[in-house]
Amino acid sequence: MMVFWMIYWSTLIFALGLCFGSFLNVCIWRIPKEKSVAWPPSACPKCGTRIKGYDNIPVLSWLLLRGKCRSCKAPISVGYPLIELLTGLFFLTIWLIYGVSPKTPIYMLAVFGLLLGTFIDLEEMWLPDRVTIGGMILFPLLSMAAPELHGTVGWFAGLKASLIGLAAGFGLFWAIRALGTAALKKEAMGCGDLKLMGMLGALLGWQAVIYITFFSALAGAVIGTGLIVMKKKELSSQIPYGPYIALAAFSWMLGGDRLWNIYLNLVGF
Ligand SMILES: [Zn+2]
Repeated sequence: MMVFWMIYWSTLIFALGLCFGSFLNVCIWRIPKEKSVAWPPSACPKCGTRIKGYDNIPVLSWLLLRGKCRSCKAPISVGYPLIELLTGLFFLTIWLIYGVSPKTPIYMLAVFGLLLGTFIDLEEMWLPDRVTIGGMILFPLLSMAAPELHGTVGWFAGLKASLIGLAAGFGLFWAIRALGTAALKKEAMGCGDLKLMGMLGALLGWQAVIYITFFSALAGAVIGTGLIVMKKKELSSQIPYGPYIALAAFSWMLGGDRLWNIYLNLVGF
């Protein structure tokens, strides 16, 4: 019976993730154009035909329509079902790790915001304020409501841990940006990255800020070098840093915090 309920809830949460992924597609498409994400309903960008409810089922509709618009047969990017699938897998993984805990819905919300920020940053080279500033306001409040987020008890301890994390994330990246800008004699990093780090500090605490700082730099070095070697990017070309921060934050939420503690134990902290 336990197994049945586990599969039942996991399926439901995966499906919920797919639906959030579908909404994420709408947000990625519309927020940079400053359009409402609620209205009008989705339409084919080519022929403008409204997408009917039965053609708007995450992943399945794309497969059934073989990636083409029902009316004009214009191709629909495989990016849409992939983003839905990615969101579904993230939601499922968070559920499997944290189960019935306030961390589960809050981390799902954070993953949604991070994916939104990542894809907009990759396309447009900026991070939306409604994600970063929104998170800097929302996560201290949620930390008061759920101090478990920071492994503490009581609203004041939760708020304190969140604000320390926020200050650590924003402050550390402010300093890195100031140093980098002085050294490179050009803007080293966007302001959006500072706000993103503030948001993540407020959610995950100051320990995560240190982890994300190292891990994002490492990921940036490895992936950035890879892209240059594969001649996808010029050495001088700008690669947004937000996606590396998001990648590091995902890995923290999906178990990196435990690995980090094991590492600290190994080196004798
Ligand atoms: Zn069409």
